[in-house]
Amino acid sequence: MITLHGKGVYGGIAIGHLSFFRRGGFHVRRHTVSNAEAELRRFHKAKEKAIRELEELYEKAVRDIGESGAQIFEIHRMMLEDDDYNDSVINAIRAERVNAEYAVSTASENFSVVFSSMDDPYMKARAADIRDISNRLIRALAGKPSDSVRSEEEASIICADDLAPSETMQLDRDKVSAFITAEGSVNSHTAILARTMGIPAVVDVGETLLGVADGTEAIVDGFTGKVYLSPDSETKARMTARQEEDRKAKALLQKYKGMENITKDGTKIEIFANIQGLREVGAALMNDAGGIGLFRSEFLYLDRNSFPDEEEQFQVYKTVLQSMGGKKVVIRTLDIGADKQVPYFGLEKEENPAMGMRAIRICLTRPEIFRPQLRALLRASVFGKLAIMFPMITSVEEMSDIRRTVSDIQRELGREGIPYSPDTEFGIMIETPAAAIISDRLAPLVDFFSVGTNDLTQYTLALDRQNPGIASFFDPHHEAVLRLIAMATENAHRHGKWIGICGELGADTELTETFLRMGIDELSVSPAYILRLRDKIRNTDLRNSKKGKK
Ligand code: PEP
Ligand code: MG
Repeated sequence: MITLHGKGVYGGIAIGHLSFFRRGGFHVRRHTVSNAEAELRRFHKAKEKAIRELEELYEKAVRDIGESGAQIFEIHRMMLEDDDYNDSVINAIRAERVNAEYAVSTASENFSVVFSSMDDPYMKARAADIRDISNRLIRALAGKPSDSVRSEEEASIICADDLAPSETMQLDRDKVSAFITAEGSVNSHTAILARTMGIPAVVDVGETLLGVADGTEAIVDGFTGKVYLSPDSETKARMTARQEEDRKAKALLQKYKGMENITKDGTKIEIFANIQGLREVGAALMNDAGGIGLFRSEFLYLDRNSFPDEEEQFQVYKTVLQSMGGKKVVIRTLDIGADKQVPYFGLEKEENPAMGMRAIRICLTRPEIFRPQLRALLRASVFGKLAIMFPMITSVEEMSDIRRTVSDIQRELGREGIPYSPDTEFGIMIETPAAAIISDRLAPLVDFFSVGTNDLTQYTLALDRQNPGIASFFDPHHEAVLRLIAMATENAHRHGKWIGICGELGADTELTETFLRMGIDELSVSPAYILRLRDKIRNTDLRNSKKGKK
């Protein structure tokens, strides 16, 4: 048995077999083949297999995310049948008598270079598609299943060097019991996704993981951050008992369903859910969320090759609002940039993307992206209780600019005879120190604040949330962050506005009492944490607590 030590991201135990997530990176060797015709037959067979996979993926995506989101698989199928691409592979096999894998990887390199040198961002983005279809072909040639069409019935423990948020999105949730990454940090969006999905995950276990064989039996302990490879029978028995204990503890929390979030002394607070898309609405409802406190709308833009248009977005927002049946739904406008990179946005490469062109900065400089999202949101507003939230605000001017754009779109919709709700709330994330410090001036311009503690901590402490190497300097309870939250709370309340916390700190039960004392009105957390938080709140009595605790 080997024990790997990493950082637990979501508490839970998974016992199963490892399944590696590979994204290309194949080491393709060149060798000469004696029979070029036989090699061509291998190529054609692999191509047929790849096409079948893409057809399956297309069907599945249509069911899961709708026609327009599924388009990418149709595009990939067409690219696989492209004459120029195929001729290039076939010629190399015939003329140079090289193996099919090598011919495919050379075609991939040549075509992707051509696409990435184009000016048009749409064409540039095709380079990634070329690599993607070529990797699929190489996998088919090697007789390996593709990354996302695993046929095993058993849910597996997904392993990877690291996973981008878009890759985590691709995982078939019914077939994933846990995930482990060699790198990665506990505050990354991938870690947040694991919590939202409610599956055990351990990050930063180190390179050893990458040398382990696919299919190895393993146990993931998301509580301690340990991963046991080929566990011995004693460990297996101990962890099976721990898994059962955890299952019982989670089942016990069910008794809190339908109860109020109220302390023993009568202080009330709202608990809402953080979601990434429609897929988590069920979990929010099942865990008795009072509403949605953060819908990270940028996830609609990930893992695809073109912008979701106004209509597609409208349908998603409308469905969330309708599903929540009149409960408040806070939808954040897109927060692309930093770790959430999307090639078709055509953004310049930056030295320091977390401080670069991200979130509201993209929206305010690219109205062709911002306006369709705002139109979709305002159109959807009549289907429920909508609140629109803007990320990464640092100045009063930005807020005034946003307000002007919103009024302009409302007038436009009015002229077109399209209804929108006059009751929609508008708020901002407090996730930069600047926003917290000038929260007295921002409060009159908004209906609410929601504190993004993930970024607020990163920017206040000058600690990159993506970098596991500096984790030892990271103090999530740092006084500076807590003071900024207290300052924003006072300013919100002075102006009669509500304030919530939607960063990961909101779920930290060591701070629940502190937040209650500050007067925070709402905590928005991953659905799996709602009942645990309710348990904590209902067992808190602010009359008994130590003085001066803030
Ligand atoms: C935050 O920064 O705390 C937040 C909620 O936003 P995100 O994690 O999506 O950056
Ligand atoms: Mg943030």
